[in-house]
Amino acid sequence: MLAPESAIYKHYLETAAPNLQKAKGDPYKVEFDVLLRHYGSFLLDGWGTLYSDNGFLYPKAQESIAMLRNANKNIRLITNSASRSVEQIHGDLQALELDFEKHEIISSGSLLAVLNESVGLKDAYYLGGPNGRQFLDEAKIEAVENPSEPTVILSGIHLAQAEIDRAIEILSNKDSRVLVLNPDVYAPTPTGEKIPVTGYIANMLKEKTGCQLLFCGKPFPLIFQIALRSLIPSKESVIMIGDTLGTDVAGACIAGIDSALMLGRNVKESELRDDIYELGVSPNYVLNGF
Ligand SMILES: [Mg+2]
Repeated sequence: MLAPESAIYKHYLETAAPNLQKAKGDPYKVEFDVLLRHYGSFLLDGWGTLYSDNGFLYPKAQESIAMLRNANKNIRLITNSASRSVEQIHGDLQALELDFEKHEIISSGSLLAVLNESVGLKDAYYLGGPNGRQFLDEAKIEAVENPSEPTVILSGIHLAQAEIDRAIEILSNKDSRVLVLNPDVYAPTPTGEKIPVTGYIANMLKEKTGCQLLFCGKPFPLIFQIALRSLIPSKESVIMIGDTLGTDVAGACIAGIDSALMLGRNVKESELRDDIYELGVSPNYVLNGF
């Protein structure tokens, strides 16, 4: 795990679940069909688990979703994605022949409307791509150059320097805050290289300005609560499958559900033990692909 990943994910855990018990013991190595037999509901991460950059699909991703569908399992895509609307994510999944229905997609961006019920924002400076603006519309937040409170909503990674500079200017005011719609710190690419993403940018803004950060998405509990509420069976038969220890697995541990970590994407097999020790959270299982 890279140093910024460790520091930021540890901070998430301290914020979201300060009393979470440290993991003990090693996870079991299993094949996907073992999980298929033993669980009724599957929460699946998207990026790094099923797909990656430019429409890249990981081996057997389509077949695994089809197997879950044929076995009448409940499935949900639980994604820290806020740069594409749920409709667009659904379209992307259909183009990749990944069989999800729209109501089975729970994106961190769509939690902004829920978060804003308590925050009560009317406007904010928006730092993200055009496709993520729909989440602001749903939350009834207007994107403006001069927000009435020093608040920035961050969703994207392809940001112009002028936009970042304007955000820093706004956040240099007292009581500033950033609503972060994707807590991921790094994302894996098909080549194995990891790229810094929104959680990394949020931390940079905090270091530069001292702003407060509020998060939507994994590992924070709300996205899991919404997913679990949408499932009929009890949470004993639910498993989260993802590639990131600090979001997918940590979030599952906080939510009190089982998890399986897909190795070789965001976590190298050779670094697994160190990473588990570092964050103090462990999946129940590890998978070497589907
Ligand atoms: Mg992922």
